[in-house]
Amino acid sequence: MERVVNLCKRRGFVFPSAEIYGGFRSTYDYGPLGVLALRNVKDAWWRSMVQLRDDVVGIDAAILTSPRVWEASGHLTNFADPLVDCRNCKERWRADEIGGVCPNCGSKDLTEPRAFNMMFKTHAGPVENEAAVAYLRPETAQGMFLNFNNVLQTTRKKPPFGIAQIGKSFRNEITPGNFVFRTREFEQMEMEYFVPPAEADTWFEYWCAERMAWYRGLGIPEDRLRLREHDAEELSHYSARTADIEFAFPWGWGELEGLANRTDFDLKAHSTASGERLEYFDQSTGERYVPYVIEPAAGATRAMMAFLLAAYDEDEVGGEHRTVLRLHHRISPYAVTVLPLSKKETLTPVARKVLALCQPHFMCDYDETQSIGRRYRRQDEIGTAYCVTVDFATLDDKAVTIRERDSTEQVRVPIDSLVDELKARLLVS
Ligand code: ATP
Repeated sequence: MERVVNLCKRRGFVFPSAEIYGGFRSTYDYGPLGVLALRNVKDAWWRSMVQLRDDVVGIDAAILTSPRVWEASGHLTNFADPLVDCRNCKERWRADEIGGVCPNCGSKDLTEPRAFNMMFKTHAGPVENEAAVAYLRPETAQGMFLNFNNVLQTTRKKPPFGIAQIGKSFRNEITPGNFVFRTREFEQMEMEYFVPPAEADTWFEYWCAERMAWYRGLGIPEDRLRLREHDAEELSHYSARTADIEFAFPWGWGELEGLANRTDFDLKAHSTASGERLEYFDQSTGERYVPYVIEPAAGATRAMMAFLLAAYDEDEVGGEHRTVLRLHHRISPYAVTVLPLSKKETLTPVARKVLALCQPHFMCDYDETQSIGRRYRRQDEIGTAYCVTVDFATLDDKAVTIRERDSTEQVRVPIDSLVDELKARLLVS
């Protein structure tokens, strides 16, 4: 964990936010590499959930939301964690996480738990009164329910169909921590899949399997992933059935994604509160019903952290120690880095041409400082999938060397076919 956190800071994945002021309350900024990796996680999700399907469409809903939404959804009353104070050291904790003992001082002298609502409250407009109250969304899901009719009418989809969204959510967590695992501002990737009620269990199981396969396909090893179904006491107020996809973090199993059968709870609640009918009318059978909802709800920032932890490795190459991020190429910040063998005037223009050839197709880096060995190490450490080396022979044979990160195997290919060769390796799955 410590090594990955250090690497994130040292190489520009994740920085503590407002660091020059000593940081700000467990918030983080994504640096030049982190922004690429995080975007890749989100793109991989969107590709699998929207692009490769014809039954799911996307939206991007507002973050600022009317209290009426959260009143109807139950969040104003139910979206709370049990807060306790330690009477000895005055620290505050989530009662369900500490087993009756203060993790700071070991005291058992704790206050009775009280409900602490985790939504961030603000005011929309210049007047700070009750009528101007707005909330930052604590989940993206409600945007899909609010737009149910809009999407039905504009896309002519019919159940089973889904609405997907990626975006920021905000929760005033009592105890943020474990790096970006739990923060107050984070990104979610959620999909609401609307189904005929009788098919809810089948689709629940379908989505559990699909989502497990997504993590595995992007390189999370089998033995660090598990699906854990909730028992009745653990279920949220809207859920008939929930299973978590968990990852073996260095401190133990932690949730990456929750899959829930939200039943018709949300659509019915918003119908009642708004007076708008949120239901599906099947013209072929004349049947009118409120669909059930199966929701795979994942965290983008948490998933990125899991991908980094799973990818981190140290090995030896040619008798030399190296750190390598064995990231799936869809997650790697850079797919390709172009390296001229040396900073000689004759090589630079050719290497720059090779870079310009690759840039329209792949996210590329370019590095001409230090020895070639050290530059390979630097690229291995940030998970770059392929290095393309331009050497003195290139000037005669118009060919370059492609080096693969994990095996360090090298092949020589003509510059003319370089892009195709890289595409064949990078776009396979
Ligand atoms: P937890 O039990 O860890 O508080 P949760 O069950 O409340 O999470 P959900 O409401 O199911 O989480 O949210 C779906 C996903 O959003 C989670 O699986 C996680 O990946 C992500 N997520 C939730 N809260 C946070 C947070 N504070 N920081 C980062 N990611 C989060």
